[in-house]
Amino acid sequence: METLVNNNSVFIQLAQYEHEQVVFCHDKQAGLKAIIAIHNTVLGPAAGGTRMWAYQNEADALHDVLRLSRGMTFKNAISGLNLGGGKAVIIGDARTQKTEVLFRSFGKFVESLSGKYITAEDVGVSTADIEYIAMQTKHVAGKPEYMGGSGDPSPVTAFGVYMGMKAAAKKVYGNDSLEGKKILVQGVGHVGSYLVAHLIKENTKVYISDFYEDRAKEVAQKYKVEVIDKEAVYDLDVDIYSPCALGATLNDSTIPKLKAQIVAGAANNQLEDEKKHGDMCKARGILYAPDFLINAGGIINVYYEIIGNYNHERVHKHAERIYDYTQNIFETAEKENINTQQAAQQVALKRIEGVGKLKMSF
Ligand code: NAD
Repeated sequence: METLVNNNSVFIQLAQYEHEQVVFCHDKQAGLKAIIAIHNTVLGPAAGGTRMWAYQNEADALHDVLRLSRGMTFKNAISGLNLGGGKAVIIGDARTQKTEVLFRSFGKFVESLSGKYITAEDVGVSTADIEYIAMQTKHVAGKPEYMGGSGDPSPVTAFGVYMGMKAAAKKVYGNDSLEGKKILVQGVGHVGSYLVAHLIKENTKVYISDFYEDRAKEVAQKYKVEVIDKEAVYDLDVDIYSPCALGATLNDSTIPKLKAQIVAGAANNQLEDEKKHGDMCKARGILYAPDFLINAGGIINVYYEIIGNYNHERVHKHAERIYDYTQNIFETAEKENINTQQAAQQVALKRIEGVGKLKMSF
């Protein structure tokens, strides 16, 4: 039996990341190739958005969905939500390959899991696409407000990142004002652009970069901020680097170049290798605000839609707590002399373990 497994084995990867279930979804007529990954359902149904991305190959798509769904387990746990971790990816180009049939077909696969996985938006999937998914399943959140949903989660995500960034500033500079700080926002899509709006209100010096020049120009004109070439971001002399595009931007080649004392952004899986690059940031004196902790605003928003008690004020109060959660993680990391990513994972796992052992007695 041993001879059947190799390094690309799906089951070796599932064992490594400790997933419960992975579902491969295929519908030729709809042009759908998707993967749903359910990482951990101890705290509740697995919840996490669906990403649409033109992956180079299927192995990359699987790798991405496994890492993202595991991140959701930590994110939901550390944010005090009664949700497990899950995520889905649709393989395809979100700019050219979206159709009603594609999303409805995907919705049917989500429905087939009977609520074990609840989906929502992620990169490449908008509220309009969620409407199609919702035609086929009730296990979807982040629906448009006119459908009784919580709408676009990005403003709440951006607010949470802003709270996490302020908590990091408090730790590094002794107070949480960002006034006068030089901040680079990499990726000014949904979250990045809302984040820029918060930052400029504090009289910061904001630099932006985006893969799409037209997008960067549009945001620069709106907020009067400076555009940086996307190749020059890691050499820029800034106080805070805020990755709000895609993951793995903290790696062997970028960390040694960074001049920032703080990394605090929305992108998922910023550390290419959690342990190695978490330690590298620590060794270089860069305070890394764990991504899954400070970008939880979106899932907090969605959570109140899922539990059927949606209310903007409640969501805002909960997202504001990201400031305290982040401060606690910095204290834990310092006390235990571990990197901040490890500290955040420890706190999340402790909650899962504790709640998992709860016994009901009346
Ligand atoms: P988005 O697609 O709206 O924006 C991402 C932006 O990054 C795009 O404008 C894209 O052109 C740009 N980009 C891509 N590669 C780049 C590169 N190499 N350099 C510079 N720019 C680049 O996505 P979003 O919803 O704003 O999410 C941003 C990140 O935050 C993603 O990693 C997402 O998973 C994460 N996140 C988002 C939410 C949410 O509520 N939307 C919640 C949690 C985490």
